[in-house]
Amino acid sequence: MIYWHDLTWEEIKERLREIKAVLLPIGSCEQHGPHLPLGTDTYSVIILSERLAENLKGKVYILPPIWYGISPHHMKFPGTITISPQTLANFVFDIASSLKYHGIQKLVIINGHGGNIPTLTDVLRRIRDELGIEVALVNPWILIGDIIQKVLETDIWGHACEFETSTALVEIPDKIRIDKIRKPTLKIPSVRHIAVWEKNRVITPWNTDEFTDTGSIGDPTKASREKGEILFNAMLERTLEFIKDFIGETEERHES
Ligand SMILES: [Zn+2]
Repeated sequence: MIYWHDLTWEEIKERLREIKAVLLPIGSCEQHGPHLPLGTDTYSVIILSERLAENLKGKVYILPPIWYGISPHHMKFPGTITISPQTLANFVFDIASSLKYHGIQKLVIINGHGGNIPTLTDVLRRIRDELGIEVALVNPWILIGDIIQKVLETDIWGHACEFETSTALVEIPDKIRIDKIRKPTLKIPSVRHIAVWEKNRVITPWNTDEFTDTGSIGDPTKASREKGEILFNAMLERTLEFIKDFIGETEERHES
């Protein structure tokens, strides 16, 4: 049993001392090109969290995932559902308040969506200062920037792209519309230094459709399962390293 919501209250009470941390997967419900489902970000953090919890059996449990995120920039594509930063911040803070009430001391947010990062970063501070819970935000793809650079053939990546389609081939192979994978036409903006794929750029309130015709930012035709295995395993390994240190279980790693 790895899910918080599969336990009973008596089991939670009995295991409270063994539970070192809880994982909160947060994704989005937003367009992911013609070939990936709206839930891609959430699926990816759920699957990663499951591998983490299986590895740390009994020491971490997975909270009910949050399937929505901050996605106003994808709204021009049908199906995207966005929530406001205040809603996400209050949602996560309220969850943390309940955890605090029940004696949970450590919370790890496993986030699958870049648009959630600024808000989640703010709420970490409130959770620490106002609740006294030790809290961390893992954005798995940011942990493996060096490996992404080695593995990908393309320089431009970011959404429903070579990276995300490769990892999806490992995480949710049955949910990919393989026949719909196609290279987008990227629209180069006339103003310099605002293109969303530039790593060092001026921040603007951009919309995805201003940069791409299909919703992909990057080339998903370059994706492969082999690349996906390397990338997924690297995210798993590094996140696991972090969590083991964070919950004080690193020694066990050396024993095994
Ligand atoms: Zn995504």
